[in-house]
Amino acid sequence: MSKWEIPPPSSLSCATRYAVDHYPEFRIELARTGVVKALVVACRAYNRSFPTIKQRGAPFVHIPEQFTKLLMGHLATLRAQERVVEGLQAGLLRLIVEYGSRFATSDLESTVMRVILGQILTECTVFYSVLVQLRISFPEMADVAHSHFDAAPEIAQVWKEWIALVKDRLQVLERYESGELTKLRACDNLKCALLRPNEELQRCSGCQCAYYCSVNCQRADYKGGAHKRACPILRSRREEQDVEISRDDRAFLRALINYEYEKYKGAIVLGHVGILSLVPGPTNRPIVLFDFTRGKCEIEVVPVLDASDDADAMQDVRFEALRRQQGRGAGGRGVGDLERIEMHVVGIQMGRHKDECMVGAPWWIPMPLRSSSPEMVHAIRALAATVPRRDTGMQDLTEGFDQERYREEVKELLARVKVDQTH
Ligand SMILES: [Zn+2]
Ligand SMILES: [Zn+2]
Repeated sequence: MSKWEIPPPSSLSCATRYAVDHYPEFRIELARTGVVKALVVACRAYNRSFPTIKQRGAPFVHIPEQFTKLLMGHLATLRAQERVVEGLQAGLLRLIVEYGSRFATSDLESTVMRVILGQILTECTVFYSVLVQLRISFPEMADVAHSHFDAAPEIAQVWKEWIALVKDRLQVLERYESGELTKLRACDNLKCALLRPNEELQRCSGCQCAYYCSVNCQRADYKGGAHKRACPILRSRREEQDVEISRDDRAFLRALINYEYEKYKGAIVLGHVGILSLVPGPTNRPIVLFDFTRGKCEIEVVPVLDASDDADAMQDVRFEALRRQQGRGAGGRGVGDLERIEMHVVGIQMGRHKDECMVGAPWWIPMPLRSSSPEMVHAIRALAATVPRRDTGMQDLTEGFDQERYREEVKELLARVKVDQTH
């Protein structure tokens, strides 16, 4: 019998792996008792004693592969941000640095480390809870030179990108905590729309989504502004979907959107001009997608599509956004509000089911932006009307649109039309 044929039960990690794969209760119980911390510690301990363990041969040399794979599986849960915080507290960053620097890892280990860093940790940088933890453990790791990872060049590249992303997000966190990115909220009675700090408005206790400056405004919106119809729908949607994101994480997400919106405002308005020059209808207003599912923010301005198009997840979101904009469904606000509401849809990764570890399962959350003045909308429409007509399919509405030519005009427009905006 060669040493490769030692039966699996001789390896604790193999037995654990089997149980994790076949018994969900076992997996849940492990998570509850802090298995992520235990695995991070185990991987680091192995890392330090690698030369000795290597001398002992099988099955010991295969233990770490199993441990790192288990760690990845446990980090990739549906509430990944919570597991990631635990991992960071236990020294996950140091583990990655040690793996990358101490020795060339096996293909499996290297892949696992790249998934943990380049996917799971990267996607989690939109969460307040994760960033607060990163602020503690990140600084001493941030200056690790890329050459530190000579033994694992693929990890070096992912590490470099991740460092840049986290530096940017920690700046956002700082600005958020100083109150700089927290916008005022608008009273949800659209006939009023007073802008006030969040804590000065009262929240509807039914849906916990609508905010009012006074009891009178709440009554007016309930009766005349369709909140009576929207409230129970909003409530059930909230119970279905939003439960996965904590209040703190959600509040930060709004601030992050404000930050990215300010940063890309010119490009967003250009996108609007490009689309509206082709589809100028008065009820048309493009949707802005803020896609954080790969960590950094990718922005896309998309037209509202016909709902009969093929129904993928994105399509559902677009349709939902359209209904909201036009006041025909959940969160309906009545026709005419289009000039004050711009639909933003935010995509984040809310972790993964164990079985789709490599496939993303993004969540798309509508976050309407409200501006207190329709002047901007009119200015954008006026500019779009000056764009020469062109022939293009509905597939790519920005095709043939000379962005460069309108960049200066958009800049001028943004300087001229000052608008209070609130997410
Ligand atoms: Zn009001
Ligand atoms: Zn309500």
